[in-house]
Amino acid sequence: VADRPIVLHVEGLAKSFEGLKAVDGISFDLHRGEVLSIIGPNGSGKSTTINLLSGFLKPDAGTIKLEGRSIAGLSAPETSAHGLARTFQNGRVFGSMTVAQNVALGYHKKLTANRPARGLQRIPVLRWIPLLGEAAASLVPWPSVRRENRAVAGHVDAEIERFAERLGPRRDDAAYTLSYANRRRTEIARALVSGPTLLLLDEPTAGMNQSETAEMLHVLQRLKAQGHTILLVEHKIELVTALSDRVLAMDGGRIIAQGDPDEVRRDPQVVEAYLGK
Ligand code: ADP
Ligand code: MG
Repeated sequence: VADRPIVLHVEGLAKSFEGLKAVDGISFDLHRGEVLSIIGPNGSGKSTTINLLSGFLKPDAGTIKLEGRSIAGLSAPETSAHGLARTFQNGRVFGSMTVAQNVALGYHKKLTANRPARGLQRIPVLRWIPLLGEAAASLVPWPSVRRENRAVAGHVDAEIERFAERLGPRRDDAAYTLSYANRRRTEIARALVSGPTLLLLDEPTAGMNQSETAEMLHVLQRLKAQGHTILLVEHKIELVTALSDRVLAMDGGRIIAQGDPDEVRRDPQVVEAYLGK
């Protein structure tokens, strides 16, 4: 993997909150087709790292390059226009929208980013909808979304098909009727529909039971086999070990170990970091 081109280059990335160094100068590279996982105890800076990479937070210092282009300090819609897609630790879908509509929002971001404005793409608020709270659903121009949905239905259905037996039958149901696991699956489908260069997943199996976690591992293994480049934040060490090419362990905003999954999970500093919490 190491001889493949670098998709993400991070150097000296730092962010403090009122003096607390949440991310304290971290550096790493992510190669095309690689799955890199970040592990670490609660509060070690994993979500902050994802938020910095995806433009939800502005770094105090550091370099972030996506395929050689600097994206540090860009807004979330701008990083998504550059090919980065993410999911959230707590899952964010719009309860009043159907599964298909939620997924379609990810495609609208792509349209907005890559083509001259026309139709739906003229409506800048749509770029923000997936990033905002439930209240934003009232801003969605429904008739245009329904028209546009027909155009993007093929792409939407292809992503829903990844979770076929789970999401397929729920395609046209409002997301508020979904189980927690299905809401997480919907969110991942939305991130993928834009065909991202880099996928950031923040604890995709949080709150899932054992069989749901095993299913998610299966989906992620297929994504990896298809060549997706993935940065994964995850607590479940078996999943991390099964999936990752490399693992970074964080503690107190710093990278305390990195390398092969089995090496990192046995690293004395890593064991200590978990035991110490
Ligand atoms: P992790 O995802 O590894 O559990 P986080 O990145 O969420 O950790 O948090 C790292 C540290 O930064 C924690 O001490 C957390 O309380 C703090 N933190 C995270 N986000 C904020 C914020 N928006 N404002 C203040 N402190 C924050
Ligand atoms: Mg977190």
